[in-house]
Amino acid sequence: MPKLRQDPATRKWSIIATERTKRPDDFAGDGKDVAPLEAYDESCPFCPGNEHMTPEPMFTLPVEEGDGSGAWAVRVVPNKFAALSKPTGDNVSTARSRRGLYLEMDGIGEHEVVIEVPDHSKTIATMTEEEVSRVVATYKARFLELDRSEWNQQIIIFRNQGEGAGTSLAHPHSQIIGTPIVSEEIRNRLEVAQRYYDDCGTCVYCDMLQAEIEEKVRIVASNAGFVAFTPFASTVPYNTWIVPRRHASSFGVITDDETDLLGAMLRSVLNGMYTLLGNPDYNYVVRSAPHHSAGEPHFHWYLEILPRLTTRAGFEIGSGMNINVVVPEDAASQLREAAK
Ligand SMILES: [Zn+2]
Ligand SMILES: [Zn+2]
Repeated sequence: MPKLRQDPATRKWSIIATERTKRPDDFAGDGKDVAPLEAYDESCPFCPGNEHMTPEPMFTLPVEEGDGSGAWAVRVVPNKFAALSKPTGDNVSTARSRRGLYLEMDGIGEHEVVIEVPDHSKTIATMTEEEVSRVVATYKARFLELDRSEWNQQIIIFRNQGEGAGTSLAHPHSQIIGTPIVSEEIRNRLEVAQRYYDDCGTCVYCDMLQAEIEEKVRIVASNAGFVAFTPFASTVPYNTWIVPRRHASSFGVITDDETDLLGAMLRSVLNGMYTLLGNPDYNYVVRSAPHHSAGEPHFHWYLEILPRLTTRAGFEIGSGMNINVVVPEDAASQLREAAK
């Protein structure tokens, strides 16, 4: 019989459809991974030598400190097709205007692209640990910079891998957007965590982490700083959370050691998915507290990976519940093997 499972951190129910269970092979081998990319593409705006095709970078990590050659390891540029406009001048405001029943405000914010490595053909799964750690260190530097702006109420760091996950450029990159409002997706998590804290006096994420460590069956990988597991009520097949062992509500307080440990874990989990599922499309997102909730005892930042193996259809849209065709415990044991 299928099971309905609830995530205590979102209160969202998912259907774990045991009778329609799919194997990794049902998702893999659709040809996405048959034509490897070249390391350089002359028409790609993110490849070395084509720097003139992007706006001026706001951040660069050199290959070697002070080598003066201009060679870069990571580069951050404004998104040419930004979702929100960077606030400039005096006529900027976060004032809401009423249009009858409806609210409207200026679409201010920041939208940056993190060009993760010079090599066009790589992806997080095929980078070195050092390369991925540099990407995470860049996330931190940009998060802190964007967090200094009075306009950015929340900062979303995310990565879209593959066309099915919404990317149009193949060159390995992630994005960071600062928004002038706290959105529903974050607000709901904060409220659920606050209520849990009121009832129990503990952080729901710390409690989940402890429960997962004790139960073991959904653990994918762990190291000194982080634990990766498939949530009990996983919303999609191979849904994976990477949760810091140390309680902190804002991603901005990640230490240098944790940056390296997260880089290593992200690489190994995504490499496991790459092998098991044949270079699947996915999104990942860093879920961090908004600016004014940094330091809260009830919220706990984490990174969530959502492989794009199935399509959200009418029932999911209508109910807000997902039908997950891979049992989280099975997903964990397969990923655990593959991520070794
Ligand atoms: Zn490129
Ligand atoms: Zn916590």
